[in-house]
Formats: sequence, C-alpha cells, structure tokens
Amino acid sequence: MKLRTLAVLTLLLSGCSANSSLRAYDNSLEQFDGIEVNEQHQSVIAKANWHHGAVDCDNNQSAAHEVYQHDQQTFIIRQNKCLTFEAPFIYVFVGSEKILLLDTGALTDEPKHSLYQTLQQTLGREQLTRKELLVLHSHSHSDHYQGDAGFEGVENIKLVPTTASDVNRFLGFDNWPQGQKVIDLGDRAITVLATPGHQEEAITLYDHKNQWLMTGDTLYPGLIYVKDWQMYRNSIERLTTFALNNQVTAILGAHIEMKKQPSLYYPIGSTYQPDEASLDLKVQSLHQLNAQLQQHQQPTEIIFDRFIIKPMNGFQRLLSNIARWITQ
Ligand SMILES: [Zn+2]
Ligand SMILES: [Zn+2]
Repeated sequence: MKLRTLAVLTLLLSGCSANSSLRAYDNSLEQFDGIEVNEQHQSVIAKANWHHGAVDCDNNQSAAHEVYQHDQQTFIIRQNKCLTFEAPFIYVFVGSEKILLLDTGALTDEPKHSLYQTLQQTLGREQLTRKELLVLHSHSHSDHYQGDAGFEGVENIKLVPTTASDVNRFLGFDNWPQGQKVIDLGDRAITVLATPGHQEEAITLYDHKNQWLMTGDTLYPGLIYVKDWQMYRNSIERLTTFALNNQVTAILGAHIEMKKQPSLYYPIGSTYQPDEASLDLKVQSLHQLNAQLQQHQQPTEIIFDRFIIKPMNGFQRLLSNIARWITQ
C-alpha cells in the first residue's frame, strides 16, 4: 500500500512492532457460526512458495513477474520483491468475452518489466486482441496502478482510472458503498463490493468460478492500515454477510508481509522474506476480524495470528489525504 511507503519513516521512528500492541487476540481455535477455526492452514492454491526476494537483490536474476496459473482461466501474478518491496499480487480472470485484470502493480511500465508483455506471453496475443481487457484497481494507492501507462491507448482495453468519480461511474453504485455490482466476463461472473476503510476507493471482487474473494489491501496477511475506522468496520461487516451467503474458498489480498510464525511480520521495506506466510486467508479470518471489530467501536490495534489491524494516526491520515488530493 502506498501509505506504507509514505509512512516508513514515521513507523520506523515510532518503533512499531507486533509486540507493542494494544489488543492481542488469540485466535488459535474458535467457533464462528458453527465453523471451527483451525490454525492448520491448508492453502487452496497449489503454489506453496512465491519468489520472496533475495539477500543480494543487486544480483537477483528472477523475472519481474512471477505467474501462477491456477486453471486455464485464472492467473495470479506477483511482482519481484527485489524490484519493489511492496511485491503486490495482481489477478487475471478470463471469461469467454472479456479478461479482467485487477491492479497493474507497483512497477512503472518499462520494456524490462512490462506487465502487458507478461499478459501477452501468458494469455497469447490472439486472445488478448480478440477479448476486451478490462483493467480495474483494488484501490487507488500507487503500488496498485503504477503499471497503468502500459495499458493506456492500447486497442480493446478498458482502463478504469483510479479516481472516485471514475470508479463510481464505471461500477454504477447507486449508494456507495452499499450494494453489489456484477461484471459479466462471458460465462464468468465477478461480483464487486465497495469496501472503503483502508482507502476510500477500495473494492473487493468475488470470483464465482473459484469462489475467491480478492480483498486488495482491505484484508491480507500483513500489517493492514485502516484510515477510516467506521468505514472499515462497516465494510468488513458487509463482506462477512456476503461470505455467509456465498461460499468463499479463499481470501486473496494484494501483499504478503506476515511470517509463518503467528503475529510476526517482516519490517516495512523488506526485500527478502524467506519465511513468509501463505497468500490466502480462510473465510474464518474474516469472521474473526468482524467479531473483533464489532467489539471495538474506536480505532484499536488488533493483532491476529495471520494479520494485524492498525489504525492510522492523525499524521498518517494527513499524509494520505495530501497524496489523495494530488492524485484525485
Ligand atoms: Zn498495497
Ligand atoms: Zn493500500
């Protein structure tokens, strides 16, 4: 998330760590609506380890984009941690008529790490030309749209800019953030929910085919900053309700910052994460988060085994507002 970049200095100065929390939540085993929460994490993604950076990034030869093919129509791309410490995850959903790309990552568009070129290699030029490529963003932090320039002006591409007005115009929410919208990719439906809180324009996607929730920076295995606490609480409550009405096999966010060990994370700016946690969270994590947020009406740091919720302080919100004012 972009704020992480902006806040590196303040956080380092403040000595933030998981151990200095206000609320530590033991979630090793608990019941939610009859669902037993078991910490033995079984990933629904066959890929166990992502490229997680290197001790010597100067001599790192790994590709800029690591592509995981889940099935014929579903791809997850991670950007190289040596090229960007954010190492965001980018999602590709292929329908019979359209292809949806969620986020363009933290790398600017350059020939040596062109995301469009990676898509051409992954999906084939013919398919990319024949089907419309729809580019959406999980939210408007710059580590999720830096690659946009590589898609601007390309034929048969619909690139939705990250501003609130553009996102709203395209998705057509009557009463943001209430309601849901469905994008039809051709024999494949993607439901969109507005989930502000981490950031104003944050959305979450649900892929009906794989029953995945793509939560961006709203929920992922890391240190999750919350800008607007009440918005976030409401968003998580709506997501939880959605997950009660729709089967969710995995929650997939945009970064990995946690270690495998409970409640421990790699410091901001890390370019080597040899012991990082798996990408996907189970739906029980969402239930746990919602239950805790319901109990905390005021901004409170809450530590879970697999992620940490951290309210922004006033200075961080100010920085975020300035950055947003510049880009919106
Ligand atoms: Zn991010
Ligand atoms: Zn973010």
